[in-house]
Amino acid sequence: MALIVQKYGGTSVGTPERIMNVARRVAKWKARGHQLVVVVSAMSGETNRLIGLAKEIQASPDPRELDVMLSTGEQVTIGLLAMALKELGIQARSYTGAQVKILTDSTFTKARILSIDDEALRADLDNDMVVIVAGFQGVDADGNLTTLGRGGSDTTGVALAAALKADECQIYTDVDGVYTTDPRIVPEARRLDTITFEEMLEMASLGSKVLQIRSVEFAGKYKVKLRVLSSLEDLDKEESPGTLITFEESPMEQPVISGIAFNRDEAKLTVLGVPDRPGIAYQILGPIAEANIDVDMIIQNVGHDGSTDFSFTVNRGEYAKALAILENVKEHIGARAITGDNKICKVSAVGVGMRSHPGIASKMFRTLAEEGINIQMISTSEIKISVVVDEKYLELAVRVLHKAFDLDKATA
Ligand code: ASP
Ligand code: MG
Repeated sequence: MALIVQKYGGTSVGTPERIMNVARRVAKWKARGHQLVVVVSAMSGETNRLIGLAKEIQASPDPRELDVMLSTGEQVTIGLLAMALKELGIQARSYTGAQVKILTDSTFTKARILSIDDEALRADLDNDMVVIVAGFQGVDADGNLTTLGRGGSDTTGVALAAALKADECQIYTDVDGVYTTDPRIVPEARRLDTITFEEMLEMASLGSKVLQIRSVEFAGKYKVKLRVLSSLEDLDKEESPGTLITFEESPMEQPVISGIAFNRDEAKLTVLGVPDRPGIAYQILGPIAEANIDVDMIIQNVGHDGSTDFSFTVNRGEYAKALAILENVKEHIGARAITGDNKICKVSAVGVGMRSHPGIASKMFRTLAEEGINIQMISTSEIKISVVVDEKYLELAVRVLHKAFDLDKATA
């Protein structure tokens, strides 16, 4: 007997029929003698719908009240799934985040989990019940409802698995695992049987939407065994094993690159002709950080004639805000001009194999050059190389890199 936490995303619970299917899948695992905790997202589109409603009232909705609203999405699905299980004759009980007591800090709309009270859940499990928990939400020390940021149900799942010391955390989604890249762009993309935790973390932070990055961080910290699987597969068929996120590199020959990730939502800002002196990076990025804008890549050119150019990228949604801030500080820092481009994207190659194989960067740059794709910015870490290119080259870049690194070929 194992204790398994399963998380089902919005598509998996998108209709009453699909909720019945989830219940059947849960029943199947239960029948094998396992204890089950099931975390669900809101029905697909629901969180967006709720945000839309809020924005019709307030252009930037009050964060506390937004969380009050947003947490209703998941509250609907836990109730429905509990009913569905009861229809199948299985004992089940639903809990909101606050009812469990998933205690978070008070950062509305992106709260962090501080602790989880597992007492009630354990008692239910011991009484042979399936426990259903609303994803994406918690409660702060003052009793305010909070949410964990978009995609936060993954984090709820992993955090519960950590708190309950579950044997496995299964993330059910509408794809049957982690792919070498998005199959909608490259039909030859393959499902990976395993991916290392470090690679998954890079993939998530570089734009792969399979898992929320915070959930991967959580899994790493508490060594939660995490698996990504499809909820849309035929229930009568033998289940595909999905993708297991591992903490060790496989002793067998690993492909050098495990995947090509990309992110469309990028924008670039450049401060031209700033004096080349100590403190300038701080003067530019300080106000950006104060406005809570995340900065990704940063490039400072070699100075010439006492001045230099300074570029960085932000999330596209924060482009206008960042531009306004720079215009504001422009005179103070003595910059000549501010320019920007919000039609850029980032394409990255990820793989732990890079550590032991030189020449990956040059191969990547050559491949892009052969297609006439201009690289605007580059950043690297031990296991990834990212480039910023014009948005119009995104699909081409992903396709040629996928091929150049032989990701379309099955490994032995
Ligand atoms: N319903 C939330 C969202 O759409 C949380 C989740 O699905 O993970 O972001
Ligand atoms: Mg999700």
